[in-house]
Amino acid sequence: MIRVGSGFDIHAFGPGDHVMLGGVRIAHAAGVRAHSDGDVLLHALCDALLGAAGLGDIGQHFPDSDPRWRGAPSSGFIEAAVSMLRERGWQVVNADLTLLAEAPRIGAHREAIRTCVAALLQVAPDAVNLKATTTERLGFVGRDEGLAAQASVLIERVS
Ligand code: MG
Repeated sequence: MIRVGSGFDIHAFGPGDHVMLGGVRIAHAAGVRAHSDGDVLLHALCDALLGAAGLGDIGQHFPDSDPRWRGAPSSGFIEAAVSMLRERGWQVVNADLTLLAEAPRIGAHREAIRTCVAALLQVAPDAVNLKATTTERLGFVGRDEGLAAQASVLIERVS
């Protein structure tokens, strides 16, 4: 049996000098406003994983009202979600991620992000794809007020 899941996340830019994207720290003129480390790619991915397994969403499992998750690395959310899937007999087949942002540009970081996400998902790097687009200067992303991410994942039952 296979199942598909999708996820979406947004964070506004705020004070700071870097953003976390796919578990990789990228120097930037701004940071993001977030309770955790504000990694939009991993938050969208986490929702896609939970969605595929019928396990709700990131807010149910890691509420931003919980001090445990203050400044927390989002890689921990992915590790927890993968464990939950594993306990239920699921493993990830592939993930396809899209970053929507005017900046930072991620070309130079693409392979690092892919490698990091693949390790978190316990899949080969070629099972993780990362795409990026601007929004042609339209909307909040276009005004460089924040960034957004979409994720799709396929999971398969292995036990
Ligand atoms: Mg988020």
